[in-house]
Amino acid sequence: MRRTERDFASLEVSEVFCPTCRRAQPVRQHLLLVLPTGNKYEYRCAVCGTSLGGKDDGDASEYNELLRRSSGVRR
Ligand SMILES: [Zn+2]
Repeated sequence: MRRTERDFASLEVSEVFCPTCRRAQPVRQHLLLVLPTGNKYEYRCAVCGTSLGGKDDGDASEYNELLRRSSGVRR
């Protein structure tokens, strides 16, 4: 299994009914967008990849982190 530099896709514990698989499947959470108002996530079936919905977490810390990195501040 390959890891990307940032692990944006994390495995959720919960299972969601997947219409393609016609059964409850574990879902993967994908980070779609990082917004000043929070991160936008999409849930996809871990088996077939069908989109099963999404959510906003209302957490702007990731966005602020991106801003800090793009402004060239390094430690
Ligand atoms: Zn599925």
